[in-house]
Amino acid sequence: GDGGNVKVVVRVRKFVKREIDKQSPCLISMNPTTNQTVLAPPILSPEEARGSKRQQEEKSFIFDKSFWSHNEEDAHYAHQQHIYASFGEEFLDHNFDGYHTCIFAYGQTGSGKSYTMMGTPEQPGLIPRTCQGLFERIHEEQNGSITYNVHVSYFEIYNEHVKDLLTPRTNPPNYLKIRESKSDGVYVQNLTDEPVRSFEDIDRLMKIGDLNRTTASTKMNDTSSRSHAVFTLTLKQIQHDIATDSTIERLARMRLVDLAGSERANRTEATGQRLREGGNINQSLTTLGRVIAALADPKRQRASRAGGQNQSKRRVEVVPYRDSVLTWLLKDSLGGNSKTAMVACISPTDYDETLSTLRYADQAKRIRTKAHVNQDAVS
Ligand code: ADP
Ligand code: MG
Repeated sequence: GDGGNVKVVVRVRKFVKREIDKQSPCLISMNPTTNQTVLAPPILSPEEARGSKRQQEEKSFIFDKSFWSHNEEDAHYAHQQHIYASFGEEFLDHNFDGYHTCIFAYGQTGSGKSYTMMGTPEQPGLIPRTCQGLFERIHEEQNGSITYNVHVSYFEIYNEHVKDLLTPRTNPPNYLKIRESKSDGVYVQNLTDEPVRSFEDIDRLMKIGDLNRTTASTKMNDTSSRSHAVFTLTLKQIQHDIATDSTIERLARMRLVDLAGSERANRTEATGQRLREGGNINQSLTTLGRVIAALADPKRQRASRAGGQNQSKRRVEVVPYRDSVLTWLLKDSLGGNSKTAMVACISPTDYDETLSTLRYADQAKRIRTKAHVNQDAVS
């Protein structure tokens, strides 16, 4: 196996209209050489200062990469292509080598998660660029001895229900069940897993899926900030070696996840109250926080370095994967057989939410996964 830490990058977006109107100052600075990200305390009016309970101070963090997407005039401005080139492409390499990968975007609503993952037609994000890169490589590397097989699925988790984004919405909604098997692990039963032959095929499916997601959001008070969207590409490579007349299959799954707005988990933390989402708490998001905390626990890390010895003496907490749909389905991506990255998306103006996102990301840095090449000799 190939043990490695979750790769954590941070990206700050430009001001949105609301922030320009309020003339909010930018609280973030980044040093592209050291990858240091600094969050400055906002300047409070005397009134605000009296009302604020906590001392707000300057906080500094270091991540694997820091992406400055705040103002295009800056020499270090990170375009969508930068983000893809600096780790999206590398993750695609891993997929062709037969590793599972996962990239998830974390951050408060409006911090740039969907922009980073899906982007816009003019400024496509990681998902369309990965799909495009995938087919470019398949066409480049096509030769007689290797066959490529690509499938796409796209689902959403809302209120602990799984909905297929590639099938038309029904009334009542058709919630899918989660199953677990020895051979397939945890999976969504009856989820559409569409075979695709070109980028255009995927592009059509992405648009259908996004439309299914946004239709819901206008009707139901911004579902997209409350739901997790999971886009999955499966790449199967079947290689036939004429000399030895043997066939090898390599299977890689890439998960690209746009999480619900993190403010929902934070408010829960801050008030100790269970935040209700139309009768349900956002269990997936709070559980994700607990899973990350458990995986990043130094005690667990020591135990895993000890290679399973003395495990009875070092009592480590069970990772609560099964406590939510998201963490159950992404179990492998979070702490198992996957190379995983997290993009922490931050607003330039919101001290409390940004601090909490940066702390979350800082914890995720400590998580180690154990990826291995998924390869089988078929004959
Ligand atoms: P989220 O998905 O986290 O709720 P969005 O991706 O919808 O946030 O971003 C909120 C707004 O900010 C959108 O209008 C989006 O186009 C814009 N935006 C986000 N990130 C960037 C960026 N890096 N550059 C330019 N605009 C951005
Ligand atoms: Mg979004």
